[in-house]
Amino acid sequence: MKLLILGSGTATPSIRRLSSSYLLTTERHNILIDIGPSVVRRLIEFGYSINGIDVIILTHFHIDHTADLSTFLFASNYGDTERSEPLTILGGDGIYKFYRALRNLYPWVKPINYELNLINILKSDIQLFGIKIKAMRMNHNRESIGISVEGKKKVVFSGDTDYSKNLIKLSRDAELLIVECSFPERKLKGHMNLQLVNRITQEAKPKRVILTHLYPQWDEFKGIIPRPYLLAEDGMEIEL
Ligand SMILES: [Zn+2]
Ligand SMILES: [Zn+2]
Repeated sequence: MKLLILGSGTATPSIRRLSSSYLLTTERHNILIDIGPSVVRRLIEFGYSINGIDVIILTHFHIDHTADLSTFLFASNYGDTERSEPLTILGGDGIYKFYRALRNLYPWVKPINYELNLINILKSDIQLFGIKIKAMRMNHNRESIGISVEGKKKVVFSGDTDYSKNLIKLSRDAELLIVECSFPERKLKGHMNLQLVNRITQEAKPKRVILTHLYPQWDEFKGIIPRPYLLAEDGMEIEL
């Protein structure tokens, strides 16, 4: 597996960081985790096509994590090449309602020539092309989930969350934890800072940790970020 960081930012518009989004590639399949503003353009920039995406996972419905879903679905119908391969969208509670609302607003997102599978991943773990995907509730929005994707190795995405016991459970023995750390020090409800992320990693002991969902305060941060942390940057690639 390979992880490509498409975006490492937040709702704050930034030249340096697109909203948080990741592409997980296996030998033959591509999984997109969150799809905020401009992620579709970013995929093209990095040499991928939207028709090459098999699965989209939505960690929650905030706009910085979902805005480009309508762009993606619209282009799947009316882009240069009409999509014919099936698409799976995974999310937490409310995923059906969210999709229905999007379709009411934008009827053009209804699939024309492909099969769309919408799944509430909280109901049961799923197995897709030899990869196990599991979700747990996080501490952010009602529908927020963190997910683990497990092939030979386990990668965990926190999505947006405050300190969460579920995140500790989900991240145990993970090869890589992609964790939101919105600010170095400031504490905002529903998000974490370095101190809280430390508590998670000390208990869960993932091998590697990437800090993401970075507000612009991080760009002025002058402190030292100790191992096993790495600060996410757009375009960063990690082999697993
Ligand atoms: Zn966010
Ligand atoms: Zn959020």
